[in-house]
Amino acid sequence: MPKIKKLSDNEAKKIAAGEVVDRPSNVVKELIENSVDAGATDISIYLNEAGKNLIKIIDNGCGMSFDDAILCFEHHATSKINSIEDLNSLKTFGFRGEALSSISAISKIKLITKEPQSEIGSHLELNDGKILFHKKISCSTGTQLEISDLFYNVPARLKFLKKTETELRQTFLLFQAFCLSNLNIHFKLFHEGIEIYNCPPVSDLSSRISQLWDYNFAQNIIFFSESEQSINLEISGGISSHNFSRFNKNQIFLFVNGRWVKNYNLIKSILKGYMNVLQEGRFPAAFIFINLPSNQLDVNVHPKKEEVHFISTKKIEQFLQNLVKKNLENYLSKQLNKKIEFHDEKIKNNFIPATQTTLDIEQIPFFEPTDSFNAENHLITQNNLNIEWGSFPEKIEEKKLNVDFVDIENNLKVIGQFKLTYILIEKDDGLFLMDQHAAHERILYELFSKRFHEVATVPLIFPIIITLKESEIQFIEDYFEIFHLNGIDIERFSKDQLVIKTIPVHIKDIKMEELINQIIIWVEENQNLEKNDFFKIINEKIRAQMACKAAVKAGDPLSKEQIVQLIQNLERAENNFTCPHGRPTGWLLSAFEIEKKFKRKF
Ligand code: ADP
Ligand code: MG
Repeated sequence: MPKIKKLSDNEAKKIAAGEVVDRPSNVVKELIENSVDAGATDISIYLNEAGKNLIKIIDNGCGMSFDDAILCFEHHATSKINSIEDLNSLKTFGFRGEALSSISAISKIKLITKEPQSEIGSHLELNDGKILFHKKISCSTGTQLEISDLFYNVPARLKFLKKTETELRQTFLLFQAFCLSNLNIHFKLFHEGIEIYNCPPVSDLSSRISQLWDYNFAQNIIFFSESEQSINLEISGGISSHNFSRFNKNQIFLFVNGRWVKNYNLIKSILKGYMNVLQEGRFPAAFIFINLPSNQLDVNVHPKKEEVHFISTKKIEQFLQNLVKKNLENYLSKQLNKKIEFHDEKIKNNFIPATQTTLDIEQIPFFEPTDSFNAENHLITQNNLNIEWGSFPEKIEEKKLNVDFVDIENNLKVIGQFKLTYILIEKDDGLFLMDQHAAHERILYELFSKRFHEVATVPLIFPIIITLKESEIQFIEDYFEIFHLNGIDIERFSKDQLVIKTIPVHIKDIKMEELINQIIIWVEENQNLEKNDFFKIINEKIRAQMACKAAVKAGDPLSKEQIVQLIQNLERAENNFTCPHGRPTGWLLSAFEIEKKFKRKF
């Protein structure tokens, strides 16, 4: 075994740097934290190539003295704590004294800084962790830090840097997070000299959300502030209403004592609160601020300080879940009531509350709608009444078609459709119940997969134009081949628009915009996979999604011919037991089981 050697300080720093900074957005995060800790009220960030080439940050914070301007690049040099005990009363983001030292080991640095009480500031430049020069300079109070050529001296890391667009999105997220949790600070973000965000101080969260996204989005947020005395817990913030959803969790922001954190369990609690409100695969926006005494948590569990541990984890999760659920319910019932304005007291007294779910026709007051009634309200006028007329005799007549027996090969008899969802089939050995959606989904999925290279397509007479963010288009452009393989001919139309010219025959009726947005998210989530795995996974997902969207739905009445086709095609399918998402396509209630229930067999 070779002799043990101690690594030089600089090499050790380079290796350690990987723990704190492995991508430009980490550097941006550390620098913004430092500016906020320095009490800045104005922070501007300038990036080139998403920060790979240059990250420049200018703040008007407390600045550093001539000596501190050098000291701050030493390992474990911090002005924020003296001992580990201080973590219990920590008020700053930083405390490890590692960020600047790590960053200086893997980049070229220029620092200009001045304290308010000094006449003169300092200008320092470092390369590879070594000081090139340090001199006095006349400048304004605050700190300006330029980090260029990130990882220029660590080629192994350089190789792993993500595409500019990916990196930029990550930086946008953290920028948004800082803006959300520091309403009093004026934040600006520039990329390649272009202003991306300009967010002056605001007095409330709603205004910040409007600045970062848009006014309409902010109108869809339900705000709250609640506390749980027993553990001194306070949770405030906002969640999106049932009217809004996204394909990913990127708009769920969690802050613990002002620090943006990632916590899988807390996100799960939020999503549980949304149960039955959002469709599967859709996610809300949430801006959750959790405040609790610092001795109730540990922030020192992650090198990048992205995670925290709580003492009363379960209690917090439960509280959050209930809070989300309660606020959504309150909002929903308020919305339903809000849409009805009454001019006439008599009518008001006759009003049936929106929460009443079982409506007896006899009880419903009949009256003419006045101008103030909103047509969207389903509970008031007879015309808009939310009643299923399915039990009426005429309706049964209409469906007679499906109640007939149909003889087809293999000795099957189709009894009919149950709840317009399941096809009931009499077989020699029992009653087979087939889920029409799951079955059709499986059939289409196999069809799409088999015709991998010859998907039947139709050119669109009116091509579909889809507007996306410019960065999203730049990102997805490299992956157009995947769309192609699945029968979707797509091209860039303008800087923020795509045009779809051809689509597979079977998906004529599906919303392409939704599908494209969903594909972008899958590509993003899986882009780090090895090429073959990546193609396999993305293709499977696209086909499953196309099959799901194009398949008949639960609730669709089917003709005799359609039912026969479904049964025959499902029999031919290779994997006919489950739909592409793993749900069963059908199951057999054996004759023996049925007879046992009726006590004919024991
Ligand atoms: P930490 O933030 O954990 O203390 P850093 O390496 O990020 O460690 O920073 C080291 C020190 O440099 C800080 O403790 C602070 O005193 C000083 N410093 C860094 N950035 C700034 C800034 N923008 N303004 C004033 N002081 C700063
Ligand atoms: Mg710091």
